[in-house]
Amino acid sequence: METVSVLTCPECGHTQAETMPENACQWFYECTACAALLTPLAGDCCVFCSYGTRPCPPVQAGIKCCGDWS
Ligand SMILES: [Zn+2]
Repeated sequence: METVSVLTCPECGHTQAETMPENACQWFYECTACAALLTPLAGDCCVFCSYGTRPCPPVQAGIKCCGDWS
C-alpha cells in the first residue's frame, strides 16, 4: 500500500508530499505555500483523489469509500 501522495495545489501549483491516513479520507488540505484550503472535486472522496499523484488507500484497496454512496 502506497501511503505517500504528492499533492498539487490548484491555486499556485505548489507540490507537497503528504502521508495519507490508511483508513480514512481527508476532506481538507491547506496548501503549505499559499494557504489555499483545498476540498475534493465533485465525485472524488478526498483531496488526495482530486489533487494527489495517487488515490487514497481505501480506493487503492478497492473499498467503497466514504464519498461514494451512490
Ligand atoms: Zn497553493
